[in-house]
Amino acid sequence: MRVDQNACTGDGLCVQLAPSVFEFDVDGLAYVKDDTGELQTLDGARVPVPLPVVDAVLGAADECPGTCIYVERADGTLEAGGPAEEV
Ligand code: SF4
Repeated sequence: MRVDQNACTGDGLCVQLAPSVFEFDVDGLAYVKDDTGELQTLDGARVPVPLPVVDAVLGAADECPGTCIYVERADGTLEAGGPAEEV
């Protein structure tokens, strides 16, 4: 999964729903965290979705106001999130 920071509104929904994998950086935009909890501060950085938070991440991707959370399958196709026309 990844976040497109260019479209993030900074509302914090993802951080509320899945705080173990989403966090704000100092720029007020959401970034993903890896399995050690380290924030991945490069724009569009990808991390795997940890199993315990799959439902929360999918929910965040569905509800994200910026439609900028992308949950991708292993083959690169979109599982959830992103702009509606791409789902
Ligand atoms: S829910 Fe979407 S728009 Fe809101 S902070 Fe998270 S990534 Fe950004």
